[in-house]
Amino acid sequence: MAIRVIRTEEDPVLRKISRPVKEVTPKIITLIDDMLDTMYEAMGVGLAAPQVGILKRIVVIDIGEGLLELINPVVTRQSGNQETEEGCLSCPGKVGITKRPNKVTVEYFDRHGKKRKITGTELLAKALCHEIDHLDGILYAQHVIKWVTD
Ligand code: ZN
Repeated sequence: MAIRVIRTEEDPVLRKISRPVKEVTPKIITLIDDMLDTMYEAMGVGLAAPQVGILKRIVVIDIGEGLLELINPVVTRQSGNQETEEGCLSCPGKVGITKRPNKVTVEYFDRHGKKRKITGTELLAKALCHEIDHLDGILYAQHVIKWVTD
């Protein structure tokens, strides 16, 4: 396990589209483990592979309700609205109010290659949307309706 460098918003890798994971190889497991170390060390609630410079569809989230590791996540359902503060480890020092769905369902594969589904509301819904956006090269600034910081 190792801490990787978190790319910041000026890095073009954050605007690229990530590729699906075809097979969970030992290299992928190492990447996920490193992403966990990196997220916890940075005290973040989520991290997407492109944030450590790897264009693969992998996301880790821990909002304090248990760790989620999502491979090839897809939002299959969304409803409601929330307008809350949001930030990103790749955009240090910035906070904005974003508009996001209040409830989302996501289908994904776990590290054992098992297909899973999770439904999240509020903070978890926001984190799922935020991290999955990273896989499509989208930064949260795009969803900001009002900046809290300059
Ligand atoms: Zn982010």
